[in-house]
Amino acid sequence: DVTATKGNEFEDYFLKRELLMGIYEKGFESPSPIQEESIPIALTGSDILARAKNGTGKTAAFCIPALEKIDSDNNVIQVVILVPTRELALQTSQVCKELGKHLKIEVMVTTGGTSLKDDIMRLYQPVHLLVGTPGRVLDLTRRGICNLKDCSVLVMDEADKLLSPEFQPSVEQLISFLPPNRQILMYSATFPVTVKDFKDRYLRKPYVINLMDELTLKGITQYYAFVEERQKVHCLNTLFSKLQINQSIIFCNSVNRVELLAKKITELGYSCFYIHARMLQDHRNRVFHDFRNGACRNLVCTDLFTRGIDIQAVNVVINFDFPKNSETYLHRVGRSGRYRIEQELGAEIKQIPSLIDQAIYCR
Ligand code: ADP
Ligand code: MG
Repeated sequence: DVTATKGNEFEDYFLKRELLMGIYEKGFESPSPIQEESIPIALTGSDILARAKNGTGKTAAFCIPALEKIDSDNNVIQVVILVPTRELALQTSQVCKELGKHLKIEVMVTTGGTSLKDDIMRLYQPVHLLVGTPGRVLDLTRRGICNLKDCSVLVMDEADKLLSPEFQPSVEQLISFLPPNRQILMYSATFPVTVKDFKDRYLRKPYVINLMDELTLKGITQYYAFVEERQKVHCLNTLFSKLQINQSIIFCNSVNRVELLAKKITELGYSCFYIHARMLQDHRNRVFHDFRNGACRNLVCTDLFTRGIDIQAVNVVINFDFPKNSETYLHRVGRSGRYRIEQELGAEIKQIPSLIDQAIYCR
């Protein structure tokens, strides 16, 4: 779906005129959602990990900023686009050539299964943008034929595939040839653990775009409150008195804290159960069953409980302890600290409204 955009236009990105011409000649009228998300961020030099469905225009989402960044007067490789297959390499290079038609940019394709000699010969000529499969690009680089010391942008398309055992070692070695200021743009339809691990090891303050998740935070109103550790229980008490709680789930980060908090909540006069991993399964099942049946209003738990819960009556989720990562937040809230997670998930989290806020701070 390349429609349904925020209303941005390609002119909004201050692209070179020649590039803009290429975009329009290709028949693109306005950017698709993944392009709207990616292009301005990529132009700032940020690393990106982006996930969007097939056919949403990911290729142009990285090709446009890549082409914009290339200085055609400098005859060195400035961008490498890694892809898992020869066909995709050819297709991607074609898109680069079309979009960059009016720019004097030299595009080269190199993949396994072709003559190394031809590639060596080609590399005697200027190349600004290299599209290829990891093995071959690494081979050329290791031999010193392909010089990546000025390659400041690395794109990984189909990143989940590029991080399969077949490619990952080559990709990682290739990165060691890049200059320290390199920018990495990753596009993937799925975010398996390999992608997350890679992101944590190689990407710097990456901007995470997840258009698959677009709808999942909708319909949930999220609030945060800055609270000192010793004020947390007091704050919770205030929330209990102000919020219309049908049933709530309250998350803590350790078994001990779950037990302690459940005790506190009970002392405050609210009905409360707890569940954590050190309880026997039988006991856990019973508590869960009773909570589901409305035997009590609040449940304190660890992240053990985050996946697959579906209790209609729960209308409030409280992250009493800050979730370890954005994924945990997502699983907790059914979808959600403040800045980092907001950026990663693309959801706005508002400060808790003044009514509650005053109640918290002015007592
Ligand atoms: P993906 O990599 O996300 O699967 P592609 O980059 O292959 O998707 O793009 C899918 C199709 O959409 C291509 O034919 C491409 O030319 C077209 N397309 C991409 N961006 C736009 C746009 N902004 N306007 C119109 N068509 C577009
Ligand atoms: Mg693609």
